[in-house]
Amino acid sequence: MNQRRIPIIAGNWKMNKTSREARELAASLIPLVSVVKDREIVLGPPFTSLQAVSEIIKGTNIALSAQNMHWEDKGALTGEISAEMLLDLGCQYVIIGHSERRQYFGETDETVNKKVKQALRKGLRPILCVGETLAEREGGKLQEIINRQITGGLNDIGAGDMKKIVIAYEPVWAIGTGKTATPEQANEVHALIRQRVKALYREEIADGLRIQYGGSVTPENVSSLMAMPDIDGALVGGASLKPESFAALVNFR
Ligand code: PEP
Repeated sequence: MNQRRIPIIAGNWKMNKTSREARELAASLIPLVSVVKDREIVLGPPFTSLQAVSEIIKGTNIALSAQNMHWEDKGALTGEISAEMLLDLGCQYVIIGHSERRQYFGETDETVNKKVKQALRKGLRPILCVGETLAEREGGKLQEIINRQITGGLNDIGAGDMKKIVIAYEPVWAIGTGKTATPEQANEVHALIRQRVKALYREEIADGLRIQYGGSVTPENVSSLMAMPDIDGALVGGASLKPESFAALVNFR
């Protein structure tokens, strides 16, 4: 953690929670984090619960994120959701290019980049996810993959817009597996990402960029991760589904 960058803890609820359950989870969380001022808190319910959570968190210190969106404004795209629809429900953030989207739904650096650009055009803040698989890491391809995902995901994005982007480093082998990258392993990749952004833009942009770590973050390991100089927050799946554990993450010391 670096004092100049405000930590951002975001929950990715994935395909969990009906709107009633989502409302209950958000309502239980609010009093547990209401005094928090020095970090940003973001909830990412599924599309069907955005409205319910939006109503519950209105006027609190919690922001709303979607988990995906389409890059077109509107049209014949059955089953898709536009940036404007998300804004209409009070979203400020949108997770883009999560490894599950890349792995199961065919998202590529190119489509991820289109989504990031559309989010920025419309006034949503993208949380751009990158990360390598175990085979890529073990095959010595870590740096190549991360550089490709960063360069591809940020293609054609101006320096001004970089201030609105959050990057989430999520090693695929650590997501939902209980295997966390060690703080040193995670920080090494965060530093690599910052280095890449510095090469693509300039030092000031790289210094201001917030990079979250994601992959089996828990109340037990969050402090050691957040103690690292290039880790600026967490993108959390499993541990965001219970108010007590997510609040414990938000309140890391
Ligand atoms: C995620 O889906 O972004 C994630 C990191 O999941 P988990 O915390 O469950 O590993």
